[in-house]
Amino acid sequence: MEQIGHWIGGRAVAGASGRTAPVFDPARGVQTAEVALASAAEVDGAVKLAAAAAAWGETPSVRRSGMLFRLRELLDAHRDNLAAVVTREHGKVLADAQGEVARGLDNVEFACGIPHLLKGSHSAEVSGGVDVHTVLQPVGVVAGITPFNFPVMVPLWMLANALACGNAFVLKPSEKDPSASLLLADLVQQAGFPEGTFTVLQGDVEAVVSLLEHPDVDAVSFVGSTAVARHVYETATRHGKRVQALGGAKNHMVVLPDADVDAAADAAVSAGYGSAGERCMAISVVVAVGSVADGLVDAIAARLPDVVVGPGDDPRSMMGPLITGEHRERVRAYVAGAAGEGARVVVDGSAAPTGHRTDTGGFFLGCSLVDGVEPGMRVYDDEIFGPVLSVVRVATFDEAVALVNANPYGNGAAVFTRDGGAARRFERTVKAGMVGVNVPIPVPVASHSFGGWKASLFGDHPIYGPEGIRFYTRPKVVTSRWPDPASSEVDLGFPRSD
Ligand code: NAD
Repeated sequence: MEQIGHWIGGRAVAGASGRTAPVFDPARGVQTAEVALASAAEVDGAVKLAAAAAAWGETPSVRRSGMLFRLRELLDAHRDNLAAVVTREHGKVLADAQGEVARGLDNVEFACGIPHLLKGSHSAEVSGGVDVHTVLQPVGVVAGITPFNFPVMVPLWMLANALACGNAFVLKPSEKDPSASLLLADLVQQAGFPEGTFTVLQGDVEAVVSLLEHPDVDAVSFVGSTAVARHVYETATRHGKRVQALGGAKNHMVVLPDADVDAAADAAVSAGYGSAGERCMAISVVVAVGSVADGLVDAIAARLPDVVVGPGDDPRSMMGPLITGEHRERVRAYVAGAAGEGARVVVDGSAAPTGHRTDTGGFFLGCSLVDGVEPGMRVYDDEIFGPVLSVVRVATFDEAVALVNANPYGNGAAVFTRDGGAARRFERTVKAGMVGVNVPIPVPVASHSFGGWKASLFGDHPIYGPEGIRFYTRPKVVTSRWPDPASSEVDLGFPRSD
């Protein structure tokens, strides 16, 4: 059985705790590897090495930029390999995995501009002979804790900017698909980043808690479910760390009566069932306003038999398996319980997925569509994270916005309409961090920042883009005076600018 270990001090290191977790090929339902689970002692040793390496933040930013350019080239050259590993351990179809790698790479390209991004500000002569300038310095050791659903992209959201800003970065990837992190580590090393500046610690709760409490960890970036994000935020802030903790989601797509029904149905199916619904920006609720509902539900249902389910490495597959058998059963239970809650199961994909080679023992599930859903039903209230699309029917635009705003999550929200005024009103009033206008998955490009509102983000900083630079640096304001000896004098008064 393959053993997956850590990356510490610039090399692959086997686990020493004696604890491991199984890693599966979800398309076949078989265990393929064991991943080491770091102990508190292993975390301590690795973090101390990272702290010792953090002095590399003095390396001129233009040289760090050179390393990022090399990392960009290496990632580009290894795209296919990275995507294949994502498909093997996560299960998403290869084209989707390639898209994930491409979006991750965008963040490295953004970070290549670090000399420009770290330009501070300067105010001359704020008082007689006094100048002020700001500098952005590295935070120190940054820990990144990442979810299973984007094992390449989410680590790159973090590590590109964290390293560009001159920090040492310690990644704790998901134990469900850990291999991509080691490929990334090898490429970071080849790109010339010094030993200890990038560390991978495989692990579970024990490793996470050790990182959150470790005195040498200065900041924590977390992406995962809301319950864990809240816990990470509370624990790490209590230990004096800077924290950004991105949580779960329940993303609504509001379809107004004037929308093009076919285009809206295409978007709902793509965004609802892509990656088997295991995306934090997946659409999980379609809000059908007024007269659009019947036609829209029919149009979505009509498309579902064409969604081909199968192994991610088969080019015919449009949707791969779920991450684990346990998760598949959890998703099935939501569909099974929906009718009892008063909803109408229009398409039940939990029985036999429409596809091919779904008899491989993999954790496959078909697409389910549930109409007549309302708040208070579990199928609405919980983040299901599977191929289940709910439809909530409302009478008016205002009711639709009120529904979205009353939801505890606030990651993404989309509106489909031909009415510019309504779209603008939606954009202005909806309580979500990322808004799509006729765009169902409005993941910001790397030069903007990603983050939700409400229970989808704990902390003050969204991730990557300009907010990423702010999160991974500390501002310092320097006030300087070079008195002219000719005018120097003793003055015990409080310094004033006037
Ligand atoms: P998860 O919360 O179970 O795990 C995320 C990370 O936390 C993993 O590294 C895991 O090992 C660790 N972890 C799990 N339980 C823990 C605990 N009790 N204490 C400390 N650490 C713990 O999430 P997941 O299942 O891997 O990923 C899916 C979730 O992530 C979904 O809720 C999804 O919406 C969310 N997500 C959010 C975003 C975003 O940007 N907001 C992006 C991707 C995924």
